[in-house]
Amino acid sequence: MSSATITLSNGIAQPVIGLGTWQSSPAEVIAAVKASVKAGYRLIDTASVYQNEEAIGTAIKELIAEGVVKREELFITTKAWTHEIAPGKLEEGIRSALKKLQLEYVDLYLAHIPTAFNNEMTAHIASPVEDIWRQFDAVYKLGLAKAVGVSNWNNDQIARVLALGLTPVHNSQVELHLYFPQHEHVNFCKSHNISVTSYATLGSPGRVNFTLPNGLKPDWAPAPSELEDANVLAAAKKYNKTPAQVLLRYVLDRGFAIIPKSINEARIIENFNVFDFKLTADEISKLEEKKISQRLFLQEFMYGHPEDAFASERK
Ligand code: NAP
Repeated sequence: MSSATITLSNGIAQPVIGLGTWQSSPAEVIAAVKASVKAGYRLIDTASVYQNEEAIGTAIKELIAEGVVKREELFITTKAWTHEIAPGKLEEGIRSALKKLQLEYVDLYLAHIPTAFNNEMTAHIASPVEDIWRQFDAVYKLGLAKAVGVSNWNNDQIARVLALGLTPVHNSQVELHLYFPQHEHVNFCKSHNISVTSYATLGSPGRVNFTLPNGLKPDWAPAPSELEDANVLAAAKKYNKTPAQVLLRYVLDRGFAIIPKSINEARIIENFNVFDFKLTADEISKLEEKKISQRLFLQEFMYGHPEDAFASERK
């Protein structure tokens, strides 16, 4: 079974479920991509900073060679990291991603972050989002990406680039889950015909294992487990589904795409097996009763940058 789709403002169909791949090593991601496509997934979400584009390219090539799927049935998303959005760098960034992925085009190319840095991420580059978006407009017009969008940008930043009158923002990928429901952002996106993709839909339980390239662990804020939320457990019992499936359905039933990450085949299948039930508006309100709004991904490295998207939220 292939998943349902959302139509982007340029007519491109984006699958509502994709495989997340942050923290998936090259060996893990090859197996995960193959298991997911065989289970019906058609969207794979990666980023240059995940350092697994090459392995994903290998898995896709093998799946196509085996006749499991055709290129045009897949929807591949990747993202430009902070040095690739610096002035004059984006075309080189997307061509490098395409080479690793062994593809002629990606389906969606996102500005991973609105803050440009030098290659080593030691110095801010004060490139305004308008200049970043001019580069996205150019790679879209070259046909290197079928759609373009943003990630971790705030509403004002998106409004500023829409005002340029260039290629519109097709998609916004943001942290969005039961304990960070993002009502204001999604209303803004809806009013501008921008599709929304949720990341950390399960509350990103594995983020605590993240280790920086220098071996250090970031100082993540502790967060309650959404998989153990009492209302989630009650809905899971009612529908004979798992808590993870309820958390995924909560976002799907609000009208957004999801990209749950797993390297475990049983969970990959479980996360796709969500099309046989639906939450009502009352059940969604009940789930939201707990009124928690906690951003998990503070992207601390943006502190002090003139385009820090979360500056107004920082204490
Ligand atoms: P997530 O999808 O909410 O959670 C993934 C974690 O949950 C993994 O540790 C996974 O472990 C576990 N898991 C998966 N399925 C499960 C299930 N059915 N039951 C219990 N646990 C389960 O978090 P995420 O990886 O942070 O976000 C998803 C994707 O969004 C990422 O992989 C990435 O592609 C994207 N993302 C984008 C940004 C951005 O800045 N744009 C930021 C973060 C994430 P196993 O692998 O062991 O199953």
